[in-house]
Amino acid sequence: MITIPRSPVGPGQPMPAGTWQPATFEGQRTATLACPSGHLGLLNHEISETGVVSPSVVCPDGSCDWHEHVKLDGWASAAGY
Ligand SMILES: [Zn+2]
Repeated sequence: MITIPRSPVGPGQPMPAGTWQPATFEGQRTATLACPSGHLGLLNHEISETGVVSPSVVCPDGSCDWHEHVKLDGWASAAGY
């Protein structure tokens, strides 16, 4: 499992590759994740209180073979953002 750091930039700004950012989808807390190549995807996954994402994450870009079990660093402290 790899740990993904939270993006240091705010919503609406370009996210650095290999980071995540809080998002909401259909009223649920989730995250947008940028793979190490910078491809963006909105997670449609279970995310535990500690930030563990399940199932594993596959990059949405068909030309990219990034596929990892990930943990979102800082997920718990992002509650109520
Ligand atoms: Zn990718």
